[in-house]
This record gives sequence, C-alpha cells and structure tokens, in this order.
Amino acid sequence: MRILIVEDELHLAEALGQIMTEQKYLADVVHDGADGLDYALTEQYDAILLDVMLPKIDGFEVARRLRAAHISTPILMLTARDEINDKISGLDCGADDYMTKPFDPGELLARVRALTRRQGEFIGNTITVGDLTLRLDVRCLMCGDNMVRLGFKEFEVMRLLMANYRAVVPKEDIISRVWGLDSEAEDNNVEVYVSFLRKKLSFLHSGVSIGTVRKIGYFLEVPEL
Ligand code: CA
Repeated sequence: MRILIVEDELHLAEALGQIMTEQKYLADVVHDGADGLDYALTEQYDAILLDVMLPKIDGFEVARRLRAAHISTPILMLTARDEINDKISGLDCGADDYMTKPFDPGELLARVRALTRRQGEFIGNTITVGDLTLRLDVRCLMCGDNMVRLGFKEFEVMRLLMANYRAVVPKEDIISRVWGLDSEAEDNNVEVYVSFLRKKLSFLHSGVSIGTVRKIGYFLEVPEL
C-alpha cells in the first residue's frame, strides 16, 4: 500500500509519515499543493492524506483537479478548522473523508484502512472484487475458469464499479468518466452497457451482481465471503 501525504506543517508531516511507515505503508511526503498534485498525477497511490491549508494550491483545489483528471484515489482531507462549511466543500471537491486536527493516530489509521478497503484490490494489472478479476491490460473479466473480453465502454464502466465497490457510482459520474464531460450520452447509454455487463456476469456465473439505485446510479453487490 502506498500513501501520499501532503502536509505543510513539517512536524506533523513527519509524524504522519512515521505512523504510516510503522504500519508498513510506503509513504511519500510533500509539503505544498503543487507538489502534491504533481505526485498524485504521476504516481499511483492507494490513498492520499491531504491538508486543506497548503502553500501554492490549497487542498480542496488539489482534490478537484485530481478528480477532473479522473484520478479516483481515495482522499482523506485533514484540516485544523472544524467548521461545517469546510466539511461540505471537502466532500464537494471529491474528497472521500474528512478529519479535523488534532487527531488520534488510531482513528486516522482506521479511516485509511476503510478508504483503501473501499477500493477493489489492485494487484499489478488487475482489480479483484469478490470472485471477479478484471485484467486491465487485456480488458478481460474473469471468474474462476471462465473469462470474457469486454468492449471498451463495458470495460470502463466495470472498472469504475470495481474500483469503487461498496459505493454507489452516480450515473453522471459514469457518463463523464466513460463518455467524457462534454458528451451527449444519456442515462440510457449507461443502462445499455450495464445490461451488457449483467449478461456477462451471469455468463461467468459470478456471485457479484450490479445493483441499481433508481435515478441515482449503480453499485456492485458482492456476497460476503
Ligand atoms: Ca496546513
């Protein structure tokens, strides 16, 4: 597990790095928003700890730009302020969770674990959720000995659902990430691809299915092992 820490208070940054390293996470520590953005855009992380008040680019803006660049790495925002408004803009900008300083290291680690669990398990070029493995290099979905190749859009929709499993992925997010922000694609397009994927899941005899939250979006239903 690799974590990016973006925090300009040097003592706190160092302490965070230490807490993560003790838990066997690999931690990169940077001290301003510009470096944070740069690292997050060029390296792969399992989670990002992102301070709000940062030199150069603030944490909210870093989160917004990462989401605009389709980087879906879970983000835990850290801030000294505890106004409810901050909390709202934190989640608005695409952050996944929020903690006010000072915080308890135990709670921080619990939140990081929860965030990284929320993602499918990434191993090399694959994402695994339940009995399903998606191979990112050849766009194949596998379950036991069965395998199907996915079309490009099917693959992109499946990848989004698997990378965010346990969360409901809003239809608008699917449209903007798979078809592009300016696309004319509508809800119907998403429904068509979801129905293709459901057929493939049943062909694979997977225990995983795609659930619908009416008018909102889709999520993966994964039977508890
Ligand atoms: Ca700060």
